Amino acid sequence: MIRKFIRRVLALPSALGGGRSRPKVIPFAMHGIRRDQLSRGALRVTSTLQEAGFSAFVVGGAVRDLMLGVSPKDFDVATNATPEQVHHLFRRSRIIGRRFKIVHVMVGPETLEVTTFRGGEVGRRNEEGRIMADNSYGSQEEDAHRRDFTVNALFYNPADESVVDFHNGMRDIKAKKLVMIGQPARRYQEDPVRMLRAVRLAAKLGFEIDEGTRRPIAQHAALLRNEPAARLFDELLKLLLSGHAYACLAKLRDEGLAQGAFPLLDAVLTEMGEGSFVRRALDSTDARIREERPVSVGFLLASLLWPQVEKRWRELQAEGEKPVPALAQAMADVESTQDNDFAIPRRFSTTMREIWVQQPRFTSRAGARPFRFLEQPRFRAAYDFLALRGAAGEVPQPLVDWWTAFQRADADARQALVDNVHDDEGPAKKRRRRPRRKKPQADGETA
Ligand code: ATP
Ligand code: MG
Repeated sequence: MIRKFIRRVLALPSALGGGRSRPKVIPFAMHGIRRDQLSRGALRVTSTLQEAGFSAFVVGGAVRDLMLGVSPKDFDVATNATPEQVHHLFRRSRIIGRRFKIVHVMVGPETLEVTTFRGGEVGRRNEEGRIMADNSYGSQEEDAHRRDFTVNALFYNPADESVVDFHNGMRDIKAKKLVMIGQPARRYQEDPVRMLRAVRLAAKLGFEIDEGTRRPIAQHAALLRNEPAARLFDELLKLLLSGHAYACLAKLRDEGLAQGAFPLLDAVLTEMGEGSFVRRALDSTDARIREERPVSVGFLLASLLWPQVEKRWRELQAEGEKPVPALAQAMADVESTQDNDFAIPRRFSTTMREIWVQQPRFTSRAGARPFRFLEQPRFRAAYDFLALRGAAGEVPQPLVDWWTAFQRADADARQALVDNVHDDEGPAKKRRRRPRRKKPQADGETA
């Protein structure tokens, strides 16, 4: 009794950001995670480390997902072995990262991320409280403390099938609550991306963000503006590919996190109303991911930014510009607003541009043009995009149907389709020379 009391008193400073606390060690009977639910790689890596005398646990999202009965998409391992020691134990492994080293261990087709326990002491900070250096090793407890949410700080030990829980993560999983470890406002200052993670994980897991964790978000949203564009893009991509993109984005909007944080997000949030083009793109992406079908990131980005491009395209045409150059100008205008603060990696932007640039070609159906277009490597993506435009009422459905039929038809039937086009494009189009042909580009992206 007294010991329990002392323990509780000793545990107190930990909740406030320092000191030590004793973890709960939760036996199998209470959480039900069997070691055979782990991947082969996770078992191999933890057992090899343990046999070499180190401690090793499966940690983070995988433990959380197993407790929720969801199969984890990958397994991370945390250990007290240094990266060099880990590397030494696994032939197929490499040390990556400069500032903070982690080890990628390959087991069969799997890659596991093995991280040495990180120190709780956060290093240098800038004037906004952002961590600038975070590279010391530490104890398991310190490692738990520097993780973001209580439900992400659980350690699973396959050797005895126990879960080590420093921050009541299991309780919060049962309550379906996302609770920040430590003081939320401070943790957002240390790393603003945690705000995006909160929203993404809550939407993905169907959890509620605990009030104390939620409240500071709106107030700290502006900090995201200072984050490196590449990191924001990565995080946004995780969100878009979570299978719950629309729910995540709606939540971002509701939490007041979005406006002004970064332009791509602004673009999406103002255009995702019911029935809109963007909304359809998000819904179809979510559906594809849930059905485990592949998704093209370039296509998705093309969809998300299209309303802006399309609006500008229309404006320029209204000012008397021809469709093809008007589109090129509209694309450049929209991309320049994105590029300053929010660089879209080239492997995606190439596909995105190719999809856009093909759109005017769907309206020239005379002569050999449709046949040539069909042979383009990007035809299929461009056509899917056209179908989305059709569904959103932006182009006439008969035009989409014509291209659907044209693709499926044999050579004779194709010719008949072309012959039967009573083009509504007007004589101006016919007089123009062939549209410039873009050289087909190498496939820059595999989604
Ligand atoms: P997902 O299921 O989407 O992969 P995850 O929680 O596993 O979610 P990861 O990005 O794979 O997310 O991160 C693995 C673990 O690393 C997290 O569970 C968390 O413990 C820790 N972590 C990741 N990002 C942060 C962060 N910004 N601040 C603190 N801890 C983090
Ligand atoms: Mg993960």
